[in-house]
Amino acid sequence: MTDAVVVGGGLAGLIAARHLAESGRAVTLLEARDEVGGRVRTAHEGGYTFDRGFQVLFSAYPAVERELDVEALAPRPFTPGATIARPNHRSVLSDPLRNPASAPQTIFNRDVRTADKLRVFKLQRELAGKDPEALLAGGGEPIAEYLARRGFSKRFVERFAAPFYGGITLDRSLGTDSAVFEYTYKMLSEGEIFVPADGMQAMPEQLAGRARAAGATIETDHAVETVDSGAGRDEVTVETASETITAEACVVATDPATAADLTGIDTIPTETLGCVTQYFSLPTSKAPSMGTRIVLNAADNRPNTVAPLSAVAPEYAPAGMELYSATFLGEQDADEADLAADVYDALASWYPSAGFDALELLWTDRVPLAQFAQPPGFRASLPDPDAPAGPVALAGDYTRWSSIQGALESGRVAAELLR
Ligand SMILES: Cc1cc2nc3c(=O)[nH]c(=O)nc-3n(C[C@H](O)[C@H](O)[C@H](O)COP(=O)(O)OP(=O)(O)OC[C@H]3O[C@@H](n4cnc5c(N)ncnc54)[C@H](O)[C@@H]3O)c2cc1C
Repeated sequence: MTDAVVVGGGLAGLIAARHLAESGRAVTLLEARDEVGGRVRTAHEGGYTFDRGFQVLFSAYPAVERELDVEALAPRPFTPGATIARPNHRSVLSDPLRNPASAPQTIFNRDVRTADKLRVFKLQRELAGKDPEALLAGGGEPIAEYLARRGFSKRFVERFAAPFYGGITLDRSLGTDSAVFEYTYKMLSEGEIFVPADGMQAMPEQLAGRARAAGATIETDHAVETVDSGAGRDEVTVETASETITAEACVVATDPATAADLTGIDTIPTETLGCVTQYFSLPTSKAPSMGTRIVLNAADNRPNTVAPLSAVAPEYAPAGMELYSATFLGEQDADEADLAADVYDALASWYPSAGFDALELLWTDRVPLAQFAQPPGFRASLPDPDAPAGPVALAGDYTRWSSIQGALESGRVAAELLR
């Protein structure tokens, strides 16, 4: 007899399965795809590592510290801050307190005025003492207005905040709730961002290993078609194409649209934000010295950012080659050749003395669902994890905020509701 069914093997479902199993329940997790991870996936091909869209782990996320063995992931950290790039011009903005070697570059950086640098440090100090969950409960205005209210200049916003936080929130207009900015700003100030040496999917694989070790069974290629429970019922019926399972409890941890279909909860947010990430190789002998920071496009959004992946994680490319990712925000109409031409033009203008003729497009990854939309005040209308009738709980980033932290935390909360 299965005590608990978890529907969906993304981060939220894997954490829920583990915690339910640890509390003594017999747990079966049903995942529609042929592998776990949901939005966090990696493909390995020709010696290259392609994450599903440019995605990183924040070491300071409380749930990362709690739920993962970070060292076992062999973290490959980016250098804090970013390279700000425009045609024929590059500069470095870093956090000199954490990265003293970059202090002169940051102090003499002319893309960001001294007054803005001081505002950056002031904000860092202010947020240092605050509880991250309290930051999420605040917010309520667009990031752009929040930055203007705090006196940040238009130049700072255009050259740094728009590409950097636009990359994090997938909205370069900075229309996302400022709570997301404060939370991620604090995390960036207090920890590293990194990719695991073996790619981002190493994270859900570790979570799946931990869930299995706790006793959970994970079935892939098992799409759930219905979840049936009613008010007053103390059991739930879960149907796939091949079986019907009756359980004492169920966690619905799918993507938001499927969760809304399965449970009928209409406050589940279904507006999504996507992106397109392209991967490029270049022989190391021809590669410009790009360092190990994210490169921001301060001039326009084509592409928004470039990540020197193999410089950060040498395991991401075969010997003698470099791997870069370039991310466009939103779903793009242009075909992959046109997008790649934009990337080529941008790189050639940022690094005019380097030659990019050998730049080769390896893969184009179109991701329609990366995050759900988080406009100002979005938290007030999110569904409660115990919104469904009967012994059914919701888990997923859409119950908290759209991030790895939100997804991991939601799985723990759902498991606690059903213990
Ligand atoms: C390109 C990209 C970049 C990102 N960058 C970052 C970042 O840098 N930092 C960060 O914190 N967050 C980032 N995110 C967001 C983060 O990845 C997500 O918030 C998180 O992975 C969501 O996890 P989840 O478990 O809630 O949902 P999902 O990952 O969507 O998992 C849902 C699972 O349910 C399964 N499922 C669906 N329907 C069924 C069914 N009927 N039956 C059974 N199973 C089903 C799906 O196959 C999937 O495995 C990014 C996301 C993407 C895509």
